[in-house]
Amino acid sequence: MNLEKILSDLENRNPGQDEFLQAVKEVLETIEDVVKENPKYEAANIIERIIEPDRIIKFKVQWVDDKGKVQVNRAFRVQFNNAIGPYKGGCRFHPSVTEGGLKFLGFEQIFKNSLTTLPMGGAKGGSDFDPKGKSQAEIMRFCHAFMAELYKYIGPDTDIPAGDIGVGGREIGYMYGMYKKLVGEHTGVFTGKGRNWGGSLIRPEATGFGAVFFAEEMLKTRGEGIAGKTACVSGFGNVSWGAITKLNQLGAKVVTISGPDGYVYDPDGISGEKIEYLLELRASNQDIVKPYTYEFPNAQFFEGKRPWEVKCDMAFPCAIQNELNAEDAQNLVDNGVLAVSEGANMPCTPEAMNIFLKNKILYGPGKAANAGGVATSGLEQTQNAMKLNWQKEEVEEKLHDIMKNIHEACVKYGKEEDGFVNYVKGSNVAGFIKVADAMIDQGVI
Ligand code: NDP
Repeated sequence: MNLEKILSDLENRNPGQDEFLQAVKEVLETIEDVVKENPKYEAANIIERIIEPDRIIKFKVQWVDDKGKVQVNRAFRVQFNNAIGPYKGGCRFHPSVTEGGLKFLGFEQIFKNSLTTLPMGGAKGGSDFDPKGKSQAEIMRFCHAFMAELYKYIGPDTDIPAGDIGVGGREIGYMYGMYKKLVGEHTGVFTGKGRNWGGSLIRPEATGFGAVFFAEEMLKTRGEGIAGKTACVSGFGNVSWGAITKLNQLGAKVVTISGPDGYVYDPDGISGEKIEYLLELRASNQDIVKPYTYEFPNAQFFEGKRPWEVKCDMAFPCAIQNELNAEDAQNLVDNGVLAVSEGANMPCTPEAMNIFLKNKILYGPGKAANAGGVATSGLEQTQNAMKLNWQKEEVEEKLHDIMKNIHEACVKYGKEEDGFVNYVKGSNVAGFIKVADAMIDQGVI
């Protein structure tokens, strides 16, 4: 495989889509050896086929705000690859959403979904709509308008969207409601649904729980555990909340959260009622984490800074892509970090990732470490298909097993001669082989 040519062609065909190019480069560099050793992949031209989405649906969303003014947003659904199952991936509502950004997330989703061992293809969607500062009625009207177009392209055996940044249970409720009205069917076309209309217990917590379970497995390889360790977490959204909850349950002390305005350091640990308060802070629909320090005055706020300068044993970046750069990574390494587990998608820049790998830090990339969210979505689909609801313990146990299996697959394909496990390589190779083999089995279609 001529990696340089593939990447330069990709750049020419996708100008300005830097995050997509970054994600593809990372995957291709780590699977290069497997492709060379297995001529069948080159013979079927798998690489050029896997980096091109099956289709991108791009549409206009028109809705009326509370002042009676008509607003227009742009929306997308990137259906990237359905070789191993129906398209599956979240929807993001955030002003930064672009076609290129969703291509990056959809591409990552192919490998992440493959790693879960469940039959799910890769997709991602969203809109540049900003839910911040909008009223409940405005959010409902936007979600309804969004679904009035998207419903044509999704279905329980075709494409099953879910939540992501800016899309939680409330938004899924509005979108699902409109889908049901238009199609006339109560089917499992969304995951992350409300508990009393088809949702699964543990789904809201699953991504954060999974990132902690993955960190636990990584630590075990060095004879370590979670109890007694200090953790830095970024973000204060859904994934951060899940990770902080599980870290507390397993006996760790969480000392940071962050928002676009800066980070909060709480030397007493973020536990108990403070975790409940995180939900309140998020629901307040503001863009800031600082109010935490008004509620809990022992905590300090650091404006415009990121939490990675705080000494910790474990780091959980759970906010957004490229939120941890080389300087942050070096700070963490200098301060003796043992494990980094990505709750967010691609939160570490390539330079940061290389620093972790060079220093043999236990580094769990998002496509493995945060796969617990989509895995539990898969479990929600199974419950919908069986028309059954599993107990909380049953879902959590299955999630835990899936995270252990993902860790095992990473070790299988990522263990180096000196015993160090390169989880980036391991997750990419394990995810790739399954999808590539399915593409070959199904022929050129
Ligand atoms: P949320 O919208 O619930 O949370 C995102 C959090 O990040 C918010 O607290 C947000 O603050 C904060 N944030 C945004 N920008 C910055 C910034 N520049 N610096 C620091 N904090 C920032 O989304 P999720 O928790 O669902 O998603 C977080 C990450 O996890 C994303 O990368 C997502 O793709 C990934 N993920 C989510 C899954 C899920 O199941 N939800 C599954 C797998 C991955 P504010 O609200 O003020 O903007």
